[in-house]
Amino acid sequence: MPERDLLARSLAAVWHPCTQMKHHERQPLLAIARGDGPWLEDTSGRRLIDGISSWWTNLFGHCNPRINAALQDQLGRLEHAMLAGFTHEPVVALSERLSALTGGSLGHAFYASDGASATEIALKMSQHYWRNSGQPEKNRFLCLEGSYHGETVGALAVTDVAIFRDAYAPLLRPAATVATPDARRAAAGESAAQVARRAAAVLEQTLERDHRQIAALIVEPLVQGASGMVMYDPEYLRLARRLCDRYRVHLIADEIAVGFGRSGSFFAFEQAGIRPDLLCLSKGISGGYLPLSVVLCRDEIYRAFYDDTVGRAFLHSHSYTGNALACRAALAVLDIFDEDDVLAANRERARWMAESAAELLAHRPIRHLRQRGMILAFDVDDAGSDFAARYFAAAVEQGVLLRPIGNTVYLMPPYVLDQALSRELVERAVRALDASLASP
Ligand SMILES: *Cc1c(COP(=O)(O)O)cnc(C)c1O
Repeated sequence: MPERDLLARSLAAVWHPCTQMKHHERQPLLAIARGDGPWLEDTSGRRLIDGISSWWTNLFGHCNPRINAALQDQLGRLEHAMLAGFTHEPVVALSERLSALTGGSLGHAFYASDGASATEIALKMSQHYWRNSGQPEKNRFLCLEGSYHGETVGALAVTDVAIFRDAYAPLLRPAATVATPDARRAAAGESAAQVARRAAAVLEQTLERDHRQIAALIVEPLVQGASGMVMYDPEYLRLARRLCDRYRVHLIADEIAVGFGRSGSFFAFEQAGIRPDLLCLSKGISGGYLPLSVVLCRDEIYRAFYDDTVGRAFLHSHSYTGNALACRAALAVLDIFDEDDVLAANRERARWMAESAAELLAHRPIRHLRQRGMILAFDVDDAGSDFAARYFAAAVEQGVLLRPIGNTVYLMPPYVLDQALSRELVERAVRALDASLASP
């Protein structure tokens, strides 16, 4: 029984993330043997549609032949070299191409290996910019209610999700939270844009009062992912941009989850017609292959560090900064965007998911069916305790990987589903819903 062996060994030796390990006494682990496009296959041969892109990282399927080929080529050239004092083609090319995707507005790229580190870098860069600019008192941050920006200690300070934050409260210097523009908060007859304006009015009051101490506002553009796929109107970003300009506060766009086409445009902030001062990217950047993150910043920020004095420099570093293999995977991802017109194809995929969901969920006990590009979500009424765990197990039975957040079920598949498989994904999700509601 090789599978049992592997599961037992895993539970004995591996501390799994985001998991109460004792729950695995009831809920078995899944041992994944291989990936193939949108499919994950376990060691017993069971196949699951990867409905959440392996924690939102995978863009073009597992074992994608084009990304594989790029990595195989890179393996024969250079796997890694330190980036202090050295450079290499993949990191330069990636920086140039990412900057070009911001219309050249963000001219410099600083690398790390995971999303939380990108958040830390953006916060430190912002505060250090104000210090170098003679305003050291600007060292506080604002985030939105329900925000998620990662779980290292600095990133947790701008994360407003109690279950991740409360145990570590004594370690944190928490940011102030301002109202979320969550479109579900609309009063009868109120539009999502009006909710956004109400939330922006709260932001305005806060900035008016505290801007002298505030370095930056950090936001997840258009979709607050980890607090339950909270979606909001682009109007909020337009108003936030204007307010940040007026009160001289940086706007940090954390597009770790929504970048790389996930929201329907390449970057989500494009839908508001704005540009951030700092941009955090990770997750999809390497197509789900290798840990890589980056912070892009405006040249004006970069120039505030450019000096003869070492202490004015940004001395942050990680051992794997600018890893050549990860950068090469990211270049292969950008090549696919260029060659395949991915954004147009995703508009079709988003429409297929929307049509199937509208039809199949019509008479189910759900609310707030919502979608932004390749993210579709709905909230389950009277889901009962343990819904997320029950749903996950029911979904596995139906051959699909889906992990609700509380009572919010969401689909966030890789950009490879055809019409039949888009339909199949929604059908399996709905069958899992019926099964998990039937057996509370
Ligand atoms: C996942 C995520 C992070 C953290 O990224 P990690 O790689 O998990 O550290 C930060 N911000 C957002 C919006 C995310 O979705």
